[in-house]
Amino acid sequence: MSEFYINKNTKIHQILSIVKLGSILFLSLTMLNAYFELNNLNVYSRDSYFLFLCSTITILTVSILYFIWLFVFVKKLNRKHYIIASTIEHFFLLFIFSLIILFSGAYESNYKISFLFIVITSTIQLGMKCGLTIVAVSSCFLLGMDLIMVPDHLISEYFSNDIIICAIFFFTAWPLGYYNKLEKEHIEALEGLVNIDDLTGVYNHRFFQQSVNESIIRAEKENQAVSLLFIDIDYFKDYNDLYGHIQGDKLLATLSSIIKRCVRSKDIVARYGGDEFAIILPDTCEEDAIPIGERIRKSIDNTYFEGQENLRNKKITASIGVSTYPHKANTKDELIKSADDALYRAKFFNRNRVEVYSSILEELKEDIQEEHIDIISSIKTLIGIINAKDKYTYGHTERVVIYCDTMAEELDLSEEDKKTLKYGAYLHDIGKIEIPQEILNKKMKLTDEEWEYIKKHPMDGAEIMKQVPSLEQIGILVLHHHEKYDGSGYPKGLKGKQIPYLVRILAIADSFDAMTSSRPYQTRKSHEEAFKELRRCKGTQFDPELVEVFIRALQKTPNH
Ligand code: GH3
Ligand code: MG
Repeated sequence: MSEFYINKNTKIHQILSIVKLGSILFLSLTMLNAYFELNNLNVYSRDSYFLFLCSTITILTVSILYFIWLFVFVKKLNRKHYIIASTIEHFFLLFIFSLIILFSGAYESNYKISFLFIVITSTIQLGMKCGLTIVAVSSCFLLGMDLIMVPDHLISEYFSNDIIICAIFFFTAWPLGYYNKLEKEHIEALEGLVNIDDLTGVYNHRFFQQSVNESIIRAEKENQAVSLLFIDIDYFKDYNDLYGHIQGDKLLATLSSIIKRCVRSKDIVARYGGDEFAIILPDTCEEDAIPIGERIRKSIDNTYFEGQENLRNKKITASIGVSTYPHKANTKDELIKSADDALYRAKFFNRNRVEVYSSILEELKEDIQEEHIDIISSIKTLIGIINAKDKYTYGHTERVVIYCDTMAEELDLSEEDKKTLKYGAYLHDIGKIEIPQEILNKKMKLTDEEWEYIKKHPMDGAEIMKQVPSLEQIGILVLHHHEKYDGSGYPKGLKGKQIPYLVRILAIADSFDAMTSSRPYQTRKSHEEAFKELRRCKGTQFDPELVEVFIRALQKTPNH
């Protein structure tokens, strides 16, 4: 339920509680007064004083207990239990009010109309059905009381008076309930307009943000998992360019219906923006979310879309990223970021695939001694800052990790070396934290002074690594990743096999990504062009044998 609804219901609950409490207190005390008058009792006489005291204490105790029930206990109930509790409460009130009427003169009582309080509060709080039930029960009570208790010669007078009272109850509950129902429907219709994306008919970004929050809160309360899928259409820009935006819009609408068909009714499908959809899967762990993602991917892959034959892959496909709370993320922002990262991986691996989020830092944590775990959080923050500062290398580290993984497989490295290479690839630019943002993003040629800054980053990075003794091996990769095979690199000018083996691999992966991604100072090269450049620099910048292994390994990968 939205925050607006919770606030509204809380306010209605408060105001109605005050009405119920006030009416009970007021009616009981006036009824007590009427009882004394009716039976000619004097409050100041000994016996009556005791009765008056006992009754007042009882009324106050019941009111205090009722106050606690209304303002402390009921507040903690969930919606379903709240409705059950409120229904019971209204029937209890009906019982109390009946007693008041019986004690204040039964069929002669002036308090018969007091049932109206319960009719109004129950109709507002629980709807028309409950309000009308209260009307029926209170009417039966009043008319039944007349039939049983009123002497025969007076019955028609009392009966017709009470019929009027019952009619008042009915004509209060019915329009009030109807008005309530209409207002609810109206709000729902408006909510639909506010929460639905009009192009695709699925929920919009605003509703998605609100729902992720609520799903996480619920998952935390009920100790369950919630998964998030991010879906992005592959090369959708090409489709728009080819057939125009109107046709593109139609495709977006068709795609949303395919997605909706593939998920359960409790899942929330939303358009995150542009050609990106997000699906919240409540009560779903990662293992269960992957097949759902696969189902969506396959359905899109198997659907014929008008004009797809002219696209580069001859079909419309989508890439999907998966992440799960609390397994892979602890907050809403982390969940969204990690699902987005997973989507990025899926795009990187030639698209049309489902990728699960995996955090290298989390893996690193498992290999590190307990006392140094905190440093991982600091490293995470540093990487976040570097990514934010260096907009041209966003995603660079992730790609270098993937290239190094590919090389590690090709070279059949030991598990130990694989890990060191992977962590080194992830952390190699950590020293960039010291480089000012203007230098990192500068489009013009760097001055000598600025170059000094850049050249310092491997040493700064190695300094950071030194703080964790178990990261010593990784520190070596960080320190030397700019060494060149002919000894012209920095910071130490190491030459040939003096440069550690894993560092030589990392240097190739790092440079290859720099060549193939957009940078401020160069245009992006295709993979083939970059292979040529690597070969040109064999023996000068790179280990000649490893260059060939790298090219061979990459040519085998599907996204090449
Ligand atoms: P990629 O595989 O990397 O996702 O390639 P892409 O071409 O799909 O690139 P990207 O997802 O970054 O581009 C989104 C495109 O979606 C850009 C724009 O042409 C298109 N788009 C965004 N919103 C709308 C929309 O409301 N209607 C239509 N028809 N197209 C949209
Ligand atoms: Mg896209």
